[in-house]
Amino acid sequence: MNKEISIIGAGLAGCEAALYLAHRGWKVQLFEMRPEKQTPAHSTELPAELVCSNSLKSLRLDTASGLLKAELETLGCELLPLAKEALVPAGQALAVDREVFSQKVLHALQDCPGINLITQEITELPDSLCILASGPLTSDKLMADLMRKLGEEQLYFFDAIAPIVEASSLDYSKVYSKDRYDKGEPDYLNCPFSKEEYYSFVDALISAEKHEAHEFENQFFSAVKFSFYENCIPIEEIARRGVDSLRHGVMKPMGLEDPRTGRKPWAVLQLRTENKLCSSFNLVGCQTMLRYPEQKRVFRMIPGLENAEFHRFGSIHRNSYLNSPEVLNPDLSLKALPHVYIAGQLSGVEGYVESIGCGLLAARNLDLRYLNLQKGGTASARTALPPETIIGQLWRHLTSPSEGKFQPMNANFGILPVLDNPPRDKKQKKEMYSSRSLESLKSWLDANKL
Ligand SMILES: Cc1cc2nc3c(=O)[nH]c(=O)nc-3n(C[C@H](O)[C@H](O)[C@H](O)COP(=O)(O)OP(=O)(O)OC[C@H]3O[C@@H](n4cnc5c(N)ncnc54)[C@H](O)[C@@H]3O)c2cc1C
Repeated sequence: MNKEISIIGAGLAGCEAALYLAHRGWKVQLFEMRPEKQTPAHSTELPAELVCSNSLKSLRLDTASGLLKAELETLGCELLPLAKEALVPAGQALAVDREVFSQKVLHALQDCPGINLITQEITELPDSLCILASGPLTSDKLMADLMRKLGEEQLYFFDAIAPIVEASSLDYSKVYSKDRYDKGEPDYLNCPFSKEEYYSFVDALISAEKHEAHEFENQFFSAVKFSFYENCIPIEEIARRGVDSLRHGVMKPMGLEDPRTGRKPWAVLQLRTENKLCSSFNLVGCQTMLRYPEQKRVFRMIPGLENAEFHRFGSIHRNSYLNSPEVLNPDLSLKALPHVYIAGQLSGVEGYVESIGCGLLAARNLDLRYLNLQKGGTASARTALPPETIIGQLWRHLTSPSEGKFQPMNANFGILPVLDNPPRDKKQKKEMYSSRSLESLKSWLDANKL
């Protein structure tokens, strides 16, 4: 084994793995097909493009996503510090200016002498050591090769993404900035609905014309089932579940009284800034399958958005992932092809930070495997991260037998082992999960130094 590797895909997982390995003396050939060939969701030629939301979620240690970030930084994550340099105001969340973030990643790759970034679509898995990080929108030819080599354990389904509107087209006599319960900076804009406005909006959502999923099926995938992943359900599907489901979920008005009148709206739709200049806003939770003219009509019913100019409409996209518990070894290499490591969303983690984390894990495993062999050990590296950690549990999710159909997993406290003496206070309980995790991770790192 020498320290040379190909990485397929300069997305979140691929860039994380490339930087991690190159900084440890590896020679990396990083293949990215864009801009020669685009995916249905990417729109730039830049690495680590965030295709939908610009938020990498919370930084707080009483949230699972905040804990995951702290764990990854403890493990030497490369991309999170770059994301922090591209921060835009969003309360306690790590929201970034996506262009600035991708440019920072590009410069980091270019400044690293061990990395050769090559524009090329890879259509077959190579015979030499590689990390496959081609993401949920892996090109068809490569997906076909993967399916040929692994069988039919891959699944195929659709995601929906949210629209973005121009800030100057909003009606500021109606929208107001406020953070829920005034907990942090008032970084969100809020669109308050009266009872009548809300039910008209729900009616319009349900009855609007939408894209039918079968338009996006092609012959190759026709044998593979698709379904919506619970965490990315189009807003019209949520509305269809019950007239009040939105105002009890993403549009809940609690803690969002209008500061100008003190009145509590019937429902609130929040807008999150897309860039440092706050020149455009994302309609939080409005991922959708509605046709574009219908989106314009229905979303302009939102108070304050009557004249909204749309920078991007919501849309639906393919999302592919492997049946990882069946096909992966504990070190994230393929059982059938042990020289191929899988990283990112393709492995069945779900989310930006989770994909970064999976890229980091694959790279760490490879580096450990190399160091182990150098010391005369076996090719299997010590991969079992502490069970008290979110990243450890995500790894277990990918590599342990799955009960029922394997589903993607994101960071949440529910995947951690229960606390011995949990306090009643929910916030305190989450903080205890976090401190337990970070302590166990540090002890594990000390005990496992090679
Ligand atoms: C439409 C959509 C919206 C999403 N929205 C969110 C969101 O808002 N928040 C969130 O947390 N997660 C979201 N996700 C899920 C997931 O977090 C992102 O897809 C994330 O970018 C996955 O990271 P990755 O590194 O695995 O893949 P990617 O970031 O997609 O990177 C894969 C790279 O591989 C390249 N590639 C593909 N095939 C080839 C090939 N054959 N040869 C060479 N290069 C290739 C692609 O061009 C791409 O640059 C979304 C996913 C989709 C599909």
